[in-house]
Amino acid sequence: MEHLSVKNAQQCVLESVAVLDAESVKLEQTLGRVLAKDVYANRDIPPYDVSAMDGYAVRSADIKQVTSTLEITEDIKAGDMPTMTVGAGQCARIMTGAPMPDGADAVIRVEGTQAVSDRTVQINVAVKPGSDIRLRGEGMRNGEVVLTAGTEITPGVIGVLATVKCAQVQVVRHPRVAILSTGNELEDMDEPVDPNKIPNSNSYALMAQVQALGIEPSLLGIARDDPAELAEYLQRGLRFDVLLVSGGTSVGVHDYVRPTIEALGVKMKFWRVAMKPGHPVAFGLLQQNTKGSSKDTFVFGLPGNPVSSMVCFEQFVAPALRIMMGNSRLYRRTIAARLTHDVKHQPGRTEFIRVTLAKREGGYEATSTGAQGSGMLLSMARADGLMVVPSESTGLAAGEQVTVQLLDGTVFQDDVGFRE
Ligand code: AMP
Ligand code: MG
Repeated sequence: MEHLSVKNAQQCVLESVAVLDAESVKLEQTLGRVLAKDVYANRDIPPYDVSAMDGYAVRSADIKQVTSTLEITEDIKAGDMPTMTVGAGQCARIMTGAPMPDGADAVIRVEGTQAVSDRTVQINVAVKPGSDIRLRGEGMRNGEVVLTAGTEITPGVIGVLATVKCAQVQVVRHPRVAILSTGNELEDMDEPVDPNKIPNSNSYALMAQVQALGIEPSLLGIARDDPAELAEYLQRGLRFDVLLVSGGTSVGVHDYVRPTIEALGVKMKFWRVAMKPGHPVAFGLLQQNTKGSSKDTFVFGLPGNPVSSMVCFEQFVAPALRIMMGNSRLYRRTIAARLTHDVKHQPGRTEFIRVTLAKREGGYEATSTGAQGSGMLLSMARADGLMVVPSESTGLAAGEQVTVQLLDGTVFQDDVGFRE
């Protein structure tokens, strides 16, 4: 199999996965999920013409000349229904959100009036018919589609769902994701520190990358580099929608992941990508036949090197999970930045360099986090983003404009970013 470009590998992954089925979830638990069905308004909002202000409901024809004095018929609070019709020379005191009384066709804000007595008010401004009235149904109309399938649920969307009394929401199911680390050298969290071993960081970094997408993954632990043990762990992992296997995907004699997983029926789509870090990344799928319907398990073989595994997750796994969750925006946001130093690059592989970003007058500046070895996890911990060096590049010079893929959290910035 040839080395795919990042773009072609991404395409291969994205063509293989599909949006998952729907499930019903309590409104309170739906933030960040994606609507699986259109949502309709179940009434007019507002249900009748209401006042948009605290003030007086008047007949605009009565106050053509400034000033005029009107008799107050009643007080209408939000939640009250008017009991009197506003006749010539009359008005009603009305609060924001209260229904307009018959006869009135405009609202005068309190600021444009002066109380004369408890039953009389002086109006100091003229008004056009319809002023400061929210019309029945102007927010939403009974029966209309207010949210379409595929909408990502934000706080604003939750407000709309609450408005239409959608206590249970049909959302796209979340993929069930398993994470398996492999390697004889690995020492897990609950094991005592052995100076000869390598702490398992990948399971936890990958866990957090999955969590950052809103999914709670299952950690399957560490499988030793032994085909039988590996097969046992992989079999457990293949019961999930997505299995992330870290390590053992290279061509070393003890890299058993690929042959073992193929022996379990997984069809590999690729296992090499022209990228740095992350070269030995593999992707395959297992067709599952459950009760007549077929469903796939997607397997990502991620490189063992901690930075490589995280970079590959961002390029291939995150967009795949986003498709499965019903999102239409699949990729991390990119920004343009100016490079503060030269960067060496040999053509042939797309490189992802960990950078910090600083906001300057004319835009962002990108600076490498330092040594970029694929095992140097601190370079990832310090990074605001991944700077992309195109495959064909022969190197970049200080001052050049580059593209940086923002990592989680960087949608927030240091300063407020606008002038009032
Ligand atoms: P491999 O891909 O299995 O050849 O591993 C490449 C490098 O990544 C080796 O130095 C491993 O020790 C390291 N590595 C593999 N798995 C993990 C892990 N779960 N956590 C931290 N480092 C790992
Ligand atoms: Mg290994």
